[in-house]
Amino acid sequence: MHGQGVSKGLCYAKVHVLEDKPIQFPTEYASAQAEEKKFRDALADVLSETEEMKERALCTVGKEAAEILDAHCSLLKDEGMLDPISESIQDGTNAAQSVENAMNTFIEMFEGMENEYMAQRALDLKDIKDRLIRRILHIKKDDLSNLSEMMILAGEDIAPSITAGMDTEHLAGMLMELGGVTSHTAILARTLDVPAVVGASGLMNEIKTGDMIAFDGETGEIMINPTSEEVKQFQESMKKQKEEKEKLKLFSMRRAETKDHQQLNVCGNIGGTDDLKKVMEYGADGVGLFRSEFLFLVSASLPTEEQQLAAYKTVLEEIKDKPVIVRTLDIGGDKEVKALGLKKEENPFLGLRAIRLCQAKPEVFHTQLRALLRASVYGNLQIMFPMISSLQELRWAKEQLEYCKKQLEEEQIPYKQNIKVGIMIEIPATAVMARQFAAECDFFSIGTNDLTQYTLAVDRGNDDVAGLYSYFHPAVLRMIEMAIEGAHAQGIPCGMCGEAAGNAYMLPILIGLGLDEYSMTASSILELKQAASRIDTAECKELAARVMRLGTWDEVRTELEKFVAERN
Ligand code: PEP
Ligand code: MG
Repeated sequence: MHGQGVSKGLCYAKVHVLEDKPIQFPTEYASAQAEEKKFRDALADVLSETEEMKERALCTVGKEAAEILDAHCSLLKDEGMLDPISESIQDGTNAAQSVENAMNTFIEMFEGMENEYMAQRALDLKDIKDRLIRRILHIKKDDLSNLSEMMILAGEDIAPSITAGMDTEHLAGMLMELGGVTSHTAILARTLDVPAVVGASGLMNEIKTGDMIAFDGETGEIMINPTSEEVKQFQESMKKQKEEKEKLKLFSMRRAETKDHQQLNVCGNIGGTDDLKKVMEYGADGVGLFRSEFLFLVSASLPTEEQQLAAYKTVLEEIKDKPVIVRTLDIGGDKEVKALGLKKEENPFLGLRAIRLCQAKPEVFHTQLRALLRASVYGNLQIMFPMISSLQELRWAKEQLEYCKKQLEEEQIPYKQNIKVGIMIEIPATAVMARQFAAECDFFSIGTNDLTQYTLAVDRGNDDVAGLYSYFHPAVLRMIEMAIEGAHAQGIPCGMCGEAAGNAYMLPILIGLGLDEYSMTASSILELKQAASRIDTAECKELAARVMRLGTWDEVRTELEKFVAERN
């Protein structure tokens, strides 16, 4: 079988399948008062149980799972969600059926959202709904708080309420029929560092509790009851992988350094406070990209100045005085925020996205800039503007920052002086004009994810043209070269926070071109540090000069692969 690998690692163990028998709904209706009481009692029980689970999760599975449960507590107190249930009870539907009907409306709304992250939140609502109904009908669920041996946990969906109370010491891996990369199971698996595969359609028909399963959390391949020969081979690979992992761990203590002892700045990309833990554990030099829009994607309303301040402050304080580059809102493109009430666009990636959207909604931008300025006193904050395509946009954004500084001064609210202000280089026009831009800001960070799509006119999310999308394309490399040269000509640093920054094959060419900072998802940090330790700066320079003259991206890639393989 096959699914989507969402947390790396090989896993072989016995499986425990979460039972998910359909609930039989009663049709009886006592009285409006009695049904409302059943509902309110169940609500109180589930809420206090969730609060307890949250506390327990903090000690067992960590802050991230605790935050998911905290969100559940907020939903359980949200009158906007609870009122329709009571109304349905008043209209003559029993408590269990009212919860089912009213909550399904919300679930469908979330499921219909194009944004993958929001669609995954529908699974959280399903979890709450299921627990409320079970409580009303007195139906018990699996108890996984005390497992006797290492187990793979499998289910159609693995609810956060199950994982929070679970004996994670004995959790070997997770398999799920539903879900994607941003499902809570995927997030949790990565946090716990256990292998996981999600989106394995048909899984629940093929497995039962007690089956032995081998799977690969990277490729998504799943083997059910493999033969002894297959098990032997698989276990050998597991052993090798474990040894590799141990070797890699040594790199968390050191800074990235090439063979000739040139130190590299390796930073982490985060989408919120939760992602910071691994970035720090792997010894990153800071945060090179905080995608602040994730704060907007997770809530139904726009986060307030205070809520944003709290998130920025947490990151700045936790990472001490290491630099944190917060990118201002990059909404639009494939990231939709319902609360902004924007109209559908024909070409959202070329439309009202990021800084352009902020120009259309200056009040939203000001709230964010005020929160950022206020947070600046807690650490080493730098501010970065996304999707800058013209100098007017950069100047406008800087003016808004000055305007917010003035406001704070009038209100006698402190902020740090001399906060560094930079831009993303992700539009070809900006790379081409890098020198002019560099004269008006403090740093660059190249966003290769977008720079590749805009340089090559290839939609980054369209599978049909995925074969044309490659940051190894010589035209993209030229753009990168121009950005770095432009920055250096004006004496400012140029980093990179697109996916290419964490790619071991791109590393030699980026070193050769003189990139100043590499920012990537936490899971790439150790491998990149290891890759750096095997190469020499002078050789990288020679390689870059040679590779920049090649004509196609597969020639470039082949050349780089050869270079890396010879040094491994
Ligand atoms: C990029 O475009 O490379 C980038 C880092 O931004 P995002 O992936 O969030 O668009
Ligand atoms: Mg981008």
